[in-house]
Amino acid sequence: MRRKLIAGNWKMNGNLAANAVLLTGIRSGIGEAHCDVAVCVPAPYLAQCRDALAGSPARWGAQDLSVHESGAFTGEVSAGMLLDFGSRYVIVGHSERRSYHGESDETVAAKAARAVSAGLIPIVCVGETLQQREQGQTESTVTRQLDTVLATLEPEQLTRIVVAYEPVWAIGTGKTATPEMAQQVHALLRMLLKERSVAAAEVVPVLYGGSMKPDNAAELLAMPDIDGGLIGGASLKATDFLAIIRAC
Ligand code: PEP
Repeated sequence: MRRKLIAGNWKMNGNLAANAVLLTGIRSGIGEAHCDVAVCVPAPYLAQCRDALAGSPARWGAQDLSVHESGAFTGEVSAGMLLDFGSRYVIVGHSERRSYHGESDETVAAKAARAVSAGLIPIVCVGETLQQREQGQTESTVTRQLDTVLATLEPEQLTRIVVAYEPVWAIGTGKTATPEMAQQVHALLRMLLKERSVAAAEVVPVLYGGSMKPDNAAELLAMPDIDGGLIGGASLKATDFLAIIRAC
């Protein structure tokens, strides 16, 4: 049985004072969440998250990591450093990393492998651009993106990941995939997992991301292969984030 996961992606937002309000709001409003909850925050705020969320049902993590273990890689943050601050999750392959930082499928796969080997759970993002969707390339795009990751992981590592389907045209735009559109891609992603590992297909949560909000979360989360959400904008306001957790 897969447990649903609602994960916030703060992106490059926040400061100590605003984070304190947001984290306190999440902590006090989360109650006995019936799904897993996490916030993925800028690395400098991991210690603040640990201090604010320790002992609550919510977990925390980062938005990227280095493919390297340590060494002369100025500006990079290693898996070990994220673990030092109690991180459980790390996002890899977000479309903003793929497009603004030129991350290839192979780089994303190497990051996912580094995360799993270190004991972190990578949230592996895949998704098509508007142009790819219009040209009928949605399935081939997400298949290539996910398969590259799955082929890089050891068989026993396949159950230790989270997948997030994030259509690029829906991220931060207010446009959401319809539940049926999303379900179609989620079912494909589930099948790709199953081709590699029946166990992984059963336990790996496949999240939807792309303008998920309190008013559309319930219908998306009702689909059989949508196991939660990766939430950008709506994770920056405690009331909205908590409303999505409740919809779960
Ligand atoms: C994201 O960036 O992962 C995301 C889903 O953003 P938003 O919810 O703002 O579309």
